Amino acid sequence: MQRIAVFPGSFDPVTKGHQSLVMRAAPLFDKLIVAIGGNIEKTTFFSLEQRFEWLKKVFAATPHVKVMKYKGLTVDFCKEVDAGYILRGLRTSADFEFERSIGQINKQLDTSIETVFFLTASEYTPLNSSIVRDILRHGGNPQRFVPDEVDLTPYFRKEQ
Ligand code: ADP
Repeated sequence: MQRIAVFPGSFDPVTKGHQSLVMRAAPLFDKLIVAIGGNIEKTTFFSLEQRFEWLKKVFAATPHVKVMKYKGLTVDFCKEVDAGYILRGLRTSADFEFERSIGQINKQLDTSIETVFFLTASEYTPLNSSIVRDILRHGGNPQRFVPDEVDLTPYFRKEQ
């Protein structure tokens, strides 16, 4: 039986923190699906298509990492793609409390799916997508915080 994991998130945008987590976790699984979730397209900074295209570029050279989109519950998506694991990152104790609740509820929704946590690499612990968006909104250049494949030039040149 294949070990398939889903790494769910909004990736608005994908950061070097996400990339590092995926690259570290990938060897544990036969397939790792980076999945953009949610039906809340209107509230994101970057369009679903843009986030999807960036993720595909970032992981293009890692054959067993796939990028997908989904709507609805993460556990239902896991069933669809035969995944037995959900991958999440832990940056801080606040992440832990948030993730503990989601992980335990997901376990109650589907007892066959385990959530696997990775501590984030220390250099990426302070990094999250909302900081990248905030820097952009205030006219700064957050390029150093995102993978090389994510070109933010058109966004930080634009008047916010
Ligand atoms: P959401 O806000 O929809 O939960 P995110 O895109 O912020 O999704 O995060 C998705 C996953 O990526 C989460 O498990 C989160 O802990 C992890 N993550 C976010 N930022 C980092 C980082 N800097 N380093 C490692 N993992 C991270």
